Amino acid sequence: MVNETTVTVCPACGARNRAPRARAGRLRCAKCHADLPWLVEASDDDFRAVVEEASLPVLVDVWARWCGPCRAMAPVVESLSREYAGRLKVVKVNADESPVISRRHSIMSIPTLLLYRAGRETARLVGARPEPALRAWLDEGIGKRAPSGDASVGAHRPS
Ligand SMILES: [Zn+2]
Repeated sequence: MVNETTVTVCPACGARNRAPRARAGRLRCAKCHADLPWLVEASDDDFRAVVEEASLPVLVDVWARWCGPCRAMAPVVESLSREYAGRLKVVKVNADESPVISRRHSIMSIPTLLLYRAGRETARLVGARPEPALRAWLDEGIGKRAPSGDASVGAHRPS
């Protein structure tokens, strides 16, 4: 299970990349080296390798098929995996298929989002949230994007 891969299309060049569940570092396009969104699944068997041993911060989305709010959150979580490409790994855990993980984390209701850093749960969000609220929670948990070269765009110049 651990080495099972999914395919991610590079948003920059369109190349199809294999996205392993467990691997050190970031996920980058083999062709153009752009950071790729990293969205994979984990279960009881491979949670340690996929989540706890990841070097990137990990957003764990605990969900189930029968859960309407979970289904509503899925596209939001997917969108965040694209937005935070290179800075965040997103891992979906099906609560029904991962009873050990659910118990260990005392998951009482879903959706539950866990934020993992360096192998530890550092934040938790229970219940569905709109995208801006999720983004604010993530930014608080992993830090805002580092200023880039065009950080001054839109800033007020001192007069
Ligand atoms: Zn590419």
